[in-house]
Amino acid sequence: MGKLLIVGTVAFDAIETPFGKTDKILGGAATYIGLSASQFKVNSSIISVVGGDFPEEHLQMLRNKNIDTSGIEVIKEGKTFFWSGKYHNDLNTRDTLITDLNVLADFNPVVPKNYSDCDFLMLGNLHPAVQMAVINQIPKRPKLVVLDTMNFWMDNTMDELMEVIKKIDVITINDEEARQLSGEYSLVRAAQKIHAMGPKYVVIKKGEHGALLFNDGNVFFAPALPLEEVFDPTGAGDTFAGGFIGYLASTHDISFENMKRAIIYGSNLASFCVEKFGTERMENLSRKEVQNRLKQFKQLTQFEIELN
Ligand code: AMP
Repeated sequence: MGKLLIVGTVAFDAIETPFGKTDKILGGAATYIGLSASQFKVNSSIISVVGGDFPEEHLQMLRNKNIDTSGIEVIKEGKTFFWSGKYHNDLNTRDTLITDLNVLADFNPVVPKNYSDCDFLMLGNLHPAVQMAVINQIPKRPKLVVLDTMNFWMDNTMDELMEVIKKIDVITINDEEARQLSGEYSLVRAAQKIHAMGPKYVVIKKGEHGALLFNDGNVFFAPALPLEEVFDPTGAGDTFAGGFIGYLASTHDISFENMKRAIIYGSNLASFCVEKFGTERMENLSRKEVQNRLKQFKQLTQFEIELN
């Protein structure tokens, strides 16, 4: 069984979509990644930081999913990272209303001792200096290092982010961020430029339009399942990344062929995440539901054609 170490935010989110509004609810990149990866047979651990305002029941929920939380530091006198966003009518675009770093502003991550030999490392979305500090605490390079990031860090900490990008194997970002990072409109050109920055594999997430995997001239595309009801896209990207690395860690196979399957697993899990507000759907998702939807995925994408 693979050992998966995840670093990222564990947060409070306040979300507004055309279908409603939430008060502060559980969110954070690492939360979604961990919940998604917990669908596979992996040992996983989250490194993050929260404030004294963070309810113990959320940590317990993660532990119930077999996620090690000993690397989530609790700063009693501090406040948990808070993000608030509002989605446009198309649900593909959103405005960030508030990003309060709070305890994340001076976070010094500590890798739990029993995870310093992890073989899969997921650098979820947060300050690139924190991502780098985690890389530097792992003596033997993991089998695979995956990075997810967003425009906030490109706008504010581009130089530090570029140093992290040099050290990773796979980057997962959305289409607009790929354009911002590369300065190229075409996603094929963007992937080539990002490739040259370091990562051998570039995954570009296109929301309801699926995801692309680029590697050395090879391209693979996975659609997103057309859903009847989409309530809240928050966390879909992280859920996708968690499914991608969770599957790879459970199979211990990082070939391009297996990455294709990992992309399908990631898309499949992300399709559940968006069906309810926040983490609710992922907290209550059964293996059976996942398997049934995978069958739908197969039907959606399979066709026979005769080539002359
Ligand atoms: P996604 O919808 O996949 O981009 O992820 C949304 C999650 O990312 C939310 O639960 C937020 O708490 C978290 N988030 C938002 N902004 C940031 C940021 N600048 N750094 C780290 N995590 C963030």
